[in-house]
Amino acid sequence: MSQITQRDIEIIVESVMKNVERSMEGKSSNVSVKALPHQGKPSATKSQLGVFQNAEDAILAAHQAYLEYSSNYRLEDRRNIVEAIRQVALTHLDELAQLTYEETNIGRLEDKKSKIFLAATKTPGTEDLTTSAISGDYGLTIEERAPFGVIGVVTPVTNPVETIINNSISMLAAGNAVVYNVHPSSKSCTSKLVNLINQQIQLVNGPANLITMIANPTLESLDVIMNCPKVALLVGTGGPRMVKTLLQSGKKAIGAGAGNPPVIVDETADIEAAAKAIIEGTAFDNNILCIGEKEVFCLSQVYDNLIYHMLKNKAYFLSKEEINKIKEIVLTQHEVEAAKGCSLTEKKKEYHVSKDWVGKDAQLILKAIGVNKKDINLLIFEAEFEDPFVQLEQMMPILPIVKVKTFEEAVQLAVKAEHGNRHTASIFSKNIDRMTQFARAIQTTIFVKNAATLAGVGYKGEGHTTFTIAGPTGEGVTSAKTFTRIRRCTLAEGGFRIM
Ligand code: NAD
Repeated sequence: MSQITQRDIEIIVESVMKNVERSMEGKSSNVSVKALPHQGKPSATKSQLGVFQNAEDAILAAHQAYLEYSSNYRLEDRRNIVEAIRQVALTHLDELAQLTYEETNIGRLEDKKSKIFLAATKTPGTEDLTTSAISGDYGLTIEERAPFGVIGVVTPVTNPVETIINNSISMLAAGNAVVYNVHPSSKSCTSKLVNLINQQIQLVNGPANLITMIANPTLESLDVIMNCPKVALLVGTGGPRMVKTLLQSGKKAIGAGAGNPPVIVDETADIEAAAKAIIEGTAFDNNILCIGEKEVFCLSQVYDNLIYHMLKNKAYFLSKEEINKIKEIVLTQHEVEAAKGCSLTEKKKEYHVSKDWVGKDAQLILKAIGVNKKDINLLIFEAEFEDPFVQLEQMMPILPIVKVKTFEEAVQLAVKAEHGNRHTASIFSKNIDRMTQFARAIQTTIFVKNAATLAGVGYKGEGHTTFTIAGPTGEGVTSAKTFTRIRRCTLAEGGFRIM
């Protein structure tokens, strides 16, 4: 994977700065672009703008910011604010990546830099908001994108700062204000970012507290956000329990949930390219991304060739004994009663991923079973379909590979392993009919052909990026327009008198 150099970052920062300056020069905004006096506003801690001790204050501050934003600021001002967020992210890219890495203790530092870069440069801004018009004998009707107001947002530990950069650009471009309830294990790096963004927004004369967060987020503070009438929309990125909680709130909610992306490799594929792409995607940030490849279904006639090329590209093949030892360490298991007919009589083993091992380096996992290897990015092994590593969204640089006899079997098992998440899937093949067959069967929000699944969020792929892929609620690859209401405005009697 190509790394971003310091020079690349400097070039981007310079270009963003030029854009900001250009738009500031052209700004004749006779509307009040100065922050209005804030009487009776709850104040955030002086050192951390936008970070509040309690949820009510964070909501109130964001709500006041929204009122000011919607009454006194124009689209041009929104564009400046979006550029300001991009600039903050790029200027502080190294620092934010380092802070995230140190606090969350998961993933890989270099990949965090790439994710921040992606969020800052490929999240669309106000250009995403288009107005449609219908004109005819009876006049003119336009449909335009209006903000919701204050959005209550939940973010994951796996992409904490990236999600805030991405969501803030999208949501503020759409004219909203945001209150964040972040994952508690990322409260420090995210408060740093929220503070920096607010500082920069003030520098371009934007309202104070357009984004706020709760300093010590809990399920209780989320409850306050969910129940507050001043919050108009909820958006959550994370696991299934969180999405369920938001959907039960009685408010409109956009949920971006878990995935377990399967990959099919068939006998027509370029196997060397497939091996490299699968390793690139799975090893990226130690596989903590929801879109990261989690299990492979490989046609038996090309299985050996795929393993051969993976081993040449920094993978390590685990023996049965080695993977069993790893399972003892990184998974927990307990017996549960499973349905058998109408009675609950059958006992079955249920596995869970031990949080201590999520996102850890492949070499560290190997070391835990007494194997010392250098220059290894990914651990692979031959698995049965029932293997917990196939079934669980395990978020570790460990990839199970299931050998299958036919393409039909591969599709059937891949669909089962995806568990109806409708998240992400990929295929390596040169047969277009098969691509279509798999896409139709699996119905995921992101479907990637002959590339790492990262391409599906615009990383070495076309199209914009998002860190909030709303599969469960259907909005898909979110952007500014996702966070708007459609408003209709009609001018009637254009030329005819209505009888
Ligand atoms: P998580 O579900 O543990 O936490 C996500 C957020 O939800 C956190 O802010 C957490 O505090 C909150 N939360 C947790 N349990 C909750 C509950 N019962 N009620 C309300 N809120 C709750 O997930 P994580 O470990 O932070 O992130 C990894 C998960 O997120 C994976 O499942 C991954 O697939 C998913 N994810 C999805 C996307 C996407 O775009 N679809 C993007 C990134 C991550």
